[in-house]
This record gives sequence, C-alpha cells and structure tokens, in this order.
Amino acid sequence: MQTEAADLDNQGKAKIQGGTVIDRSGTVKRVQSLAKARVVNLLFAPLLLGLFYQWAGYTVLSGVLYGIGILCAESLIRRYGKAPWVQLCSVLFDHIFIGYCIYHSNSWDLYPLYLLPMSTAAQALPWGGALGVGLIAFLSEIILIRVNPDHQLWLHLIFFFLYISVIDTFAGRERRANWAKREIAAVLQDIRLAHRHLEEHNRWLTLQAQTDPMTGLYNFRHFEQMLQQYYALAHRYRSPLSLIMLDVDFFKKLNDTYGHAMGDKVLRTIAHQIRDNARNDDLVCRYGGEEFAILLPRTGLKQAGELAERIRASIEEYYRLYAEEEGLATPVTVSLGVSSFPERASSPKDLRKQADAALYLAKERGRNRVVIDDGRSSRIEAE
Ligand code: GH3
Ligand code: MG
Ligand code: MG
Repeated sequence: MQTEAADLDNQGKAKIQGGTVIDRSGTVKRVQSLAKARVVNLLFAPLLLGLFYQWAGYTVLSGVLYGIGILCAESLIRRYGKAPWVQLCSVLFDHIFIGYCIYHSNSWDLYPLYLLPMSTAAQALPWGGALGVGLIAFLSEIILIRVNPDHQLWLHLIFFFLYISVIDTFAGRERRANWAKREIAAVLQDIRLAHRHLEEHNRWLTLQAQTDPMTGLYNFRHFEQMLQQYYALAHRYRSPLSLIMLDVDFFKKLNDTYGHAMGDKVLRTIAHQIRDNARNDDLVCRYGGEEFAILLPRTGLKQAGELAERIRASIEEYYRLYAEEEGLATPVTVSLGVSSFPERASSPKDLRKQADAALYLAKERGRNRVVIDDGRSSRIEAE
C-alpha cells in the first residue's frame, strides 16, 4: 500500500510537474505542481521556528516569527486557495507523536511536540491554524523539560531540519500521493473538457467547410459529396431521387442596375424562399453564383416538379408584393429544371445533366418557369 502510494507519488510528480492543460474556457494554464507543496512547507517554517523560539524563551523573536508565518499563510491561501493550508496542517496532525529524544540525567527522555489535531483548526481560517500552533507552543512549554541552554539553539535547528526532511521524505508521501491523485483527476477532467471543446470546434469547422457563408445553404462541394451518397442509397433501396436546378433570371442586369449589394440581398431572399418550401431532409445548396440545386431523396419526378413550381411561385409572389419595398422596379423571377432517378436519369452525372438541360429549356422558353425533364431534354441539349 505504502509502495503503491509512493509509486503513484513519483508517477504523479513525473506527470504533473511542469505540465500544462486547457481549462474550461479553453485557455492553457500551468498545472499546479507538487513542487509547490514543498514551497508551502517552507513558508510554514516561520511558524515552526516561532514555536521553537517561544519554547527557548525568545518571546519577542518568536512573536515576530509568528507574525511572518501568519502573513505567509494568508498570502498562501490567497494564491493557492485553502487546500494547501489544510493539507499542511493535516500532515502535522498525522505526526502527532513525532518528538525527539534528549540524553538527560543518564537516561533518554522522549519529548512529544505535537499534541493537538491541527486540521480542525486549520479548516477555519489561517488564524485558526496559527492559534493551533500557539496552543501547541504553550503546551510544549509546559511539557518539555528545558535542556542545557548552550545546546538549545543547535537542538532546535537540528530538530527543525530533521522534521522538514522526515515530513518531506516519509510522512508527507501518502498525503502528497493523494494530492497527486486529486491533481491527476483534475487534469483528466480538464483533458476531457478540452477534448469536448475540440470536438465541438471540429463540428463547427466541418459545418463551415460545408456551407456558403452568404446564404447559409450547403455549398457546391457538399452537394457533390451528398449527390454521390444519396444516389448510392437510392440505387440500393430502389427509391427515387430528384434534382431541381434553379437559376435567377437576368441576374446580371439586376447587378448592373442596382449594384452587387442588392444582388447579394436577392440571393439571400431566394435562398430563404427555397428553404421555406423544401422539406427538412431535402438538401438545399448554393450551386454557384446565382444558381441553386435542391436534391430530393425519396421523391419522384412529379412531386419534384410540384415543389419546383411551388418555389417558383413563392419567389414570384414575394417580389410581386415586396419588390417596391426592396427598392426594385421589376420583380425578380427564377427558372427551374427538374429531373429524377430512375425515371429519367441513370447516374448522378446523368441526373445533373438532365436537370441542367431542363433548366436551359426553361430559359429558352421565356424564363420564370419550371421545365420537367421529359426524356428529350438531353437530346435538345445535345443539338
Ligand atoms: P439568365 O436569365 O440567362 O440566367 O441571365 P443572367 O444574367 O442571370 O445570367 P448570367 O450567367 O449572364 O449572369 C449571372 C450573374 O450573376 C453574373 C455575376 O456577376 C452574378 N453573380 C454571381 N455570383 C454572385 C454573387 O455572389 N453576388 C452577386 N451580387 N452577383 C453574383
Ligand atoms: Mg447562371
Ligand atoms: Mg441567371
């Protein structure tokens, strides 16, 4: 058990010292290392020294040392929180029977130094801990038999360094191992959070790569990928897959007359109208420039034609009502071409070609209309 704790202690040190971690807000911070525990021990030294000097009768010096000790403890708490203080006091409490032996009148006498449970007092405030130390000092005065004053100072110093090294080497080991465990758990938790943060960021990046920033619709690249996937599914499950291609009529003229900003606004409005009319699992994309593609899984030619007409009519209606309000003299209209697998097309490439050809026909026939691929569009396009 002890060895396990020691191993963990050593591993903990190796892993934690000088490590960095990303906290909840995503910022990188240094992990509190076990080395700090040592600093804490040393900061505690004035209190211990104060105790020794009080015992040795140097009341003023011990008072000054207590003051320094309390200030150290306070700044410690401000800097690292209450945990190291409580930790330290519990280390002291654990070694309540630590004392030292003095050869005195032909016999060895054992002098116990620590008689109070410190952790209880330390839970309150540094003042509580300091009070505990003071009380111990007072009790030490009563219990300890004074040795030859010539040897006292040396004895205090030897004991102090012995005490620090004993606590540091053996006594504090298990405590530090537990501390290390807690730190490791905290680091793991931080890593988990950082991982989640990263996953969310990746999802966001993927979405960014798939969408067109102006309209918020999927972009051409995503359309290409999804066309292949939707086609594979349609082929495997023998379900229909339709494609609507949409192009804004006389858009160049609109741009030339009202400027690019107005053109962009029109594109956003049209994107909104398409999204409003399509179903949730229809894939609405900005194909490029002023062209849009709508991929309709499990939808046959007739249904797709109906949707295309609904989109056309709603855009026409919108601009009939609001063109003036939007600062346009003439309403904006769109032309659409529709094709479907397996009714008309036999491959993804074919589907796109046929829908394009139907759109071309819609332009040819006067714009602001829907042309459904009737099986002759590709022939017309080829002509
Ligand atoms: P048709 O009815 O035959 O489709 O005529 P059209 O003028 O709409 O077609 P054409 O292909 O000649 O012009 C398309 C114009 O779309 C040309 C280009 O400047 C404009 N355009 C492309 N992308 C954008 C964009 O992101 N914003 C704006 N404002 N205009 C764009
Ligand atoms: Mg075009
Ligand atoms: Mg156009």
